[in-house]
Amino acid sequence: IKRIGVLTSGGDAPGMNAAIRAVVREGLHLGLEVYGIYDGYAGLHADRIEKLDRKSVSDVINRGGTFLGSARFPEFKEQSVREEAIKNLKKHDIDALVVIGGDGSYMGAMKLTEMGFPCIGIPGTIDNDIPGTTYTIGFDTALNIVVDAIDRLRDTSTSHQRISIVEIMGRYCGDLTMGAAVAGGAEFVVIPEKGYDEADLLAQIQAGIDKGKKHAIIAMCEHVTDVNQLAKHIESVTTRETRATVLGHLQRGGTPTARDRIMASRMGSYAVKLLLEGEGGRCVGLMNSKMVHHDIIDCINNMKRPFNQELFDLSDSLF
Ligand code: ATP
Repeated sequence: IKRIGVLTSGGDAPGMNAAIRAVVREGLHLGLEVYGIYDGYAGLHADRIEKLDRKSVSDVINRGGTFLGSARFPEFKEQSVREEAIKNLKKHDIDALVVIGGDGSYMGAMKLTEMGFPCIGIPGTIDNDIPGTTYTIGFDTALNIVVDAIDRLRDTSTSHQRISIVEIMGRYCGDLTMGAAVAGGAEFVVIPEKGYDEADLLAQIQAGIDKGKKHAIIAMCEHVTDVNQLAKHIESVTTRETRATVLGHLQRGGTPTARDRIMASRMGSYAVKLLLEGEGGRCVGLMNSKMVHHDIIDCINNMKRPFNQELFDLSDSLF
């Protein structure tokens, strides 16, 4: 392997820049040439490919988002579109591709690998929802943003004896919601993995009010229920003022935390070393504090993310 490409795909996540930087700098350090592909698979298909040098990744480690840009490009599911993409890679004599993104991006990387072009996946998403790793780049930054938001809501909720629902990202993974609930001291946590019973939630909120609680913060994962409707319902049942706050894309912006920068640096460097050892079609991850790698096809098709029951129990017992 002499030349590698790197792209970021799917939802952007803080720390992606640090991962690109690590891929570029480790690649150069080990004697490779590194090419950046702009705007994910869309840019790969449109041949937006440029050589990167040391300076291309100066001053990016501290920046959120991704300087290479990212894209949703559903056309990449079509074989003919991927064939064009492989042609572009070959035109630039690129031998392997590092894909930084979420599970959708991994699917694209898996398909390219199956078509004979070796890819390596680095988990970059705030959702922490990728199999084969206990950590995804961006999670810690997003978690800190959500906890900060809960702290602020708590101040104003307590002053006004208000009930606050905070809608938190994560797609269908409750890790961000559970982490934020524990760190932010939320009274209730609702996540997709555990199902949702509105009547039960209402009864618990009422029980809290009866015990004299001044406020209630409900940490609610996205895609579970309509939080504005729920706020109206809680208000009508409890007569307490209730507000829903959808944090939305605020959770994805901002300066990456040290943890995300370190993790991105480790994963980026590890991915390049794997490629040089001749390992293609892999995805990297963190398990028991160590870097690991798995077959990307096996990872997507067969591996399951373990549910963090301990964290869930904690969010339940400490409220
Ligand atoms: P996040 O979890 O942050 O949303 P993601 O990587 O899961 O990130 P997606 O939009 O699901 O985001 O996927 C990113 C891109 O990967 C898609 O826009 C598409 O280009 C490609 N992709 C997704 N699924 C497939 C598939 N089945 N085959 C080929 N390419 C795919």
